[in-house]
Amino acid sequence: MKYKRILLKLSGEALMGDRQYGIDPVRLAEYAEEIKKVHAKGVEIAIVIGGGNIFRGVAGASSGMDRVQGDYMGMLATVINGMALQGALEDKGMKTRLQTALKMESIAEPYIKRRADRHLEKGRIVIFGAGTGNPYFTTDTAAVLRGIEINADVILKGTRVDGVYDSDPEKNASAVKFDYISFDDVIKKGLNVMDTTAFTLSQENKLPILIFDMNQSGNLEKICDGENIGTVVNI
Ligand code: UDP
Repeated sequence: MKYKRILLKLSGEALMGDRQYGIDPVRLAEYAEEIKKVHAKGVEIAIVIGGGNIFRGVAGASSGMDRVQGDYMGMLATVINGMALQGALEDKGMKTRLQTALKMESIAEPYIKRRADRHLEKGRIVIFGAGTGNPYFTTDTAAVLRGIEINADVILKGTRVDGVYDSDPEKNASAVKFDYISFDDVIKKGLNVMDTTAFTLSQENKLPILIFDMNQSGNLEKICDGENIGTVVNI
């Protein structure tokens, strides 16, 4: 296996499938199946999940809500998604733990790095919920932060595009995909990989980010096998 320990970032919107809102159980089960393939190979898996399919603080603020209040609502949305993913993974026989950055001990453990390490060593999949626990951040930043804390080998950012392009592939048919690009070149070319806070945190800590199409069955497994899928952003 190319990677021993991965931090998989899934956006909340990915869980919607073809829906406009919420969680599509078929999509959830498909993701659980993809994750099971790499779990079966002994890869240690931590997951950060977004909440954009349910609520985003910025959207709340644009319609008059207090931003901080909205961000906490967004963080709670990530916990709902985390619980849904936990259920889907356990349905397929995997052992999991949900750890949250905001305390809610009836349903999840509080985030404790050493405990997360221990779960991962024992082959449990650890889902980190509630982002960083702070307003004004994103779950991309939470993914990089947790990835650094648990010494993940890579951040695997599952999206609906298959990597980083020199222009938007949904608008420009001749857009060219990078197999590899340096952190510096992403900035120089003004490309959008992750929000700036997440990106600089990753760069400063030399934690590579791999962007790939999570909706293509088998991709996650191929990446862990060392195949050239998606785009790697590294030093
Ligand atoms: N959020 C936050 N702090 C964090 C992570 C998330 O306040 O550390 C809130 C924020 O309002 C954000 C929402 O939770 O819009 C959902 O997270 P995100 O937008 O990152 O989800 P995704 O785009 O991955 O679905």
